[in-house]
Amino acid sequence: MNSKSEINRIFKLQSDPINTTRLRNSSYKERVEKIKRLESFILNESNHQIIADALYKDLRKPNEEVITTEITPTLLNIKHVLKNLKNWMKDEHVPSPITMVGMSSYVKYESKGTLLLISPWNYPIFLSLYPLIYAIAAGNAIILKPSEISSYTSKAIANMVQTIYEEHEVAVVEGSVEEATELLKLPFNHIHFTGSPNVGKIVMKAAAENLSGVTLELGGKSPVIIDGTGDTKEIAEKTAWGKTLNCGQTCIAPDYVLIQEKELESFISEFKTAVNKFYNTHNNGLDKAAEYGRIIDDKNFSRVETILNDAVKKGATIVFGGRHIKEDKFMEPTLLTNVTNDMLVMQEEIFGPILPIMTYNKNSDVIQLLQKMPSPLAIYIMSSKKKNIEYFLDHTVSGGVGINELMLTPVNPGLPFGGINNSGMGKSGGKHSFTDFSNEKGIVKKNFGNLLKLVYPPYKKSIFKYFKHIVRL
Ligand code: NAD
Repeated sequence: MNSKSEINRIFKLQSDPINTTRLRNSSYKERVEKIKRLESFILNESNHQIIADALYKDLRKPNEEVITTEITPTLLNIKHVLKNLKNWMKDEHVPSPITMVGMSSYVKYESKGTLLLISPWNYPIFLSLYPLIYAIAAGNAIILKPSEISSYTSKAIANMVQTIYEEHEVAVVEGSVEEATELLKLPFNHIHFTGSPNVGKIVMKAAAENLSGVTLELGGKSPVIIDGTGDTKEIAEKTAWGKTLNCGQTCIAPDYVLIQEKELESFISEFKTAVNKFYNTHNNGLDKAAEYGRIIDDKNFSRVETILNDAVKKGATIVFGGRHIKEDKFMEPTLLTNVTNDMLVMQEEIFGPILPIMTYNKNSDVIQLLQKMPSPLAIYIMSSKKKNIEYFLDHTVSGGVGINELMLTPVNPGLPFGGINNSGMGKSGGKHSFTDFSNEKGIVKKNFGNLLKLVYPPYKKSIFKYFKHIVRL
């Protein structure tokens, strides 16, 4: 835990203009070297093991998932930065309009200064390190506050940062709301927050006091729309995977299903088959499966349990799963039908392995429902009909879309990743993150002549006639 005075000391050290100017003017080579330090650290086998052990203690994350969902995406982002940074750092020349003859215009990407990164617990390595990589690439000083809930991993991140970076470059402040609140009082140049919409509002209010820039990567209810024209087995398998990966604790996990009435039974049947195939091949029960994770803590377990109990109390039917063991924070993947909008399960982000299913008859019913709900991080359209895909794409608002695919937008650093309004603000990933953490400084430079003097008073009629001519006024 870092005390208030310690937090202030680190911020003062990092935001000292001598430090920020030095980092801002750091060369491509220096930045690459810093990012490579992180890469080498992660690639080292014993460090990798420390990270994997921490993730197991926090989330019972199987080593395979550590590799696929934490380490690999982090390393791929590093590769992407190393490949593109030289280009991103270059001044970007833009054409000048006719009123600027004799001048050139360009954008200089310079660091914003001192950044605060606040990360959540569900993918604590990836969601801490990928913003960090881009923040370093853009030449900033950074304070990272990982989640207190994934405490073992946060400690591992703190040790890693201490080992490979100087405090004036990157520092980790471990802690919870108290420490985050102290940090948020400080005039950071930019705050990148990943977490819930409720805390996102707190972050944005605090940022307003200092007019700090903000990027909010939030959550929400991402629906899967199934119109019955696709391959039900494949769709059910993908949905089951998305809903059970990390025990449903993924920001872009399928939150609920909207399915054509006639497709309901076969979807349920294929979903059950898929879950059993993934986690129950020996018929020992899912609680014995090494591949199946747990709800992170008691508080979140109670939250998900309340959502489930509320649904059942209000008339929902459990058609699959439903078993949960509090002491083990184990919850079976659970399918609910007869779901209505007044249930918590349709009002709050579930962030757990419960999947409510609602049926529809007309495509317009789907749109009517979605238009009443806040715009989600993602919408998944499962259909083989081009007309339906375009209809759902054109009539819905979301941060991203998966068409017959699930949860893959953040995997491609060429795509902007992020939400809209309740699901977030600003986009991350690849160049989007680099730009987000940079001040895009617009620069106009005189090359020859002095065109400006033509508009000095006393005004000459001919000049204004010329201006009117240009815009056909
Ligand atoms: P959270 O909002 O509770 O916490 C996120 C971070 O904010 C943590 O570091 C926490 O310590 C800090 N925090 C908590 N309360 C705070 C307060 N009052 N003031 C300042 N800081 C505070 O979120 P979580 O439970 O860690 O993560 C789950 C949420 O994150 C879900 O809503 C999920 O959808 C979202 N999420 C979004 C993304 C994305 O990329 N869009 C990724 C992962 C998770």
